[in-house]
Amino acid sequence: MFSSMKGRSVLVTGGSKGIGKGIAAAFAAEGAQVVIAGRDRQAGESTASELAAAGGNARYIQADVAKSEDCAQMVAATIERNGGLDVLCCNAGVFPAASLAEMTPGQLDEVLGINLKGTVFAVQAALDALGRSGHGRVVVTSSITGPVTGYAGWAHYGASKAGQLGFIRSAALELAPAGVTINAVMPGNIITEGLADLGEEYEQTMAASIPLKRLGSVADIASAVLFFASEQAGYITGQTLIIDGGQTIPESLEAMV
Ligand code: NAP
Repeated sequence: MFSSMKGRSVLVTGGSKGIGKGIAAAFAAEGAQVVIAGRDRQAGESTASELAAAGGNARYIQADVAKSEDCAQMVAATIERNGGLDVLCCNAGVFPAASLAEMTPGQLDEVLGINLKGTVFAVQAALDALGRSGHGRVVVTSSITGPVTGYAGWAHYGASKAGQLGFIRSAALELAPAGVTINAVMPGNIITEGLADLGEEYEQTMAASIPLKRLGSVADIASAVLFFASEQAGYITGQTLIIDGGQTIPESLEAMV
C-alpha cells in the first residue's frame, strides 16, 4: 500500500477537465486538500463543486499557466488556503492541430507557451514552498506524442511534450538538495470528454491498435501520479512512466496477437 495523501496540499493545473480532473479527484478521494487551476472559471468552479459533493476538499483558482504572474498567484493562493504546498501536478495543456506548412508563429507560441513554458513557470513559482514541505513532489503530464511517437499535425505539440522531459531532468538536479522530486507521466490515448465526443467508432478503431485493446482512463493516469507523489516513490526523480496499454510497443499491427 502507498502512503496516505490525507491532508497533503495538492495543486493541479488544468484540473477542471479531462486527465487533470481525474488526478484532482484521485487526490481528493485520498483526503488531500486539492486546488485546481485553469482559465475557464465556470468549468473550474463546477469541477470543484463536484469534487466537494463527493466528499473531497477542493477549490478552484483562476490562472493561465502561460503567464508567470498567474503561476505565482495560484501558488500563493494555494499556500494561503492549505498552509503550504506538497504536490504540484503540471498537467495543463492544449493540443490544437496545425500542419507545418500552415502553422503560424502565434500557434507555435501558444502551444509552447502553455505546455512547456507553463510547466517551467509553475515549478519556478512552487520552488520555495515545495522545499519547505519535507516531501515535495512535482508530477508533469507529458505524452507519448513527441518523446516517443510522432503525429502529423502535432509537431509543435510533440516538441512541447518532449521539451517537458528535457526540463524535468535538469530540474530534478536543482530540486534534489531540498528533497523535492520531479517525474513525468506519459499518457497514450486517454478517454476524456473531448475524445468521447468523437464517437464509439473512433474509439473502437483506436482501441484496435492498442495491445490491451482499450483506451486509457483518467484513473489509469491518476494512479501513476499518486504513486509518484507517495513516500514510496521518494527515491525516484527525473524519471518518466509511459501509460499507454502497450501502444508504443508493437513494430506493426501484424506484431500483435
Ligand atoms: P483537456 O480535457 O482539454 O483539459 C485540459 C485542461 O488544461 C483544462 O482543465 C484546461 O482548462 C487546462 N488548461 C489549458 N490551457 C491552460 C492554461 N493556459 N492555463 C491553465 N490551464 C489550462 O485535456 P486532457 O486531454 O485532459 O489533457 C491534459 C494533459 O494531458 C495535457 O497536458 C495533454 O497534453 C496531456 N495528454 C493527454 C492525452 C489524452 O489522450 N487526453 C494524451 C497524452 C497527454 P481551461 O481551458 O479552463 O484553461
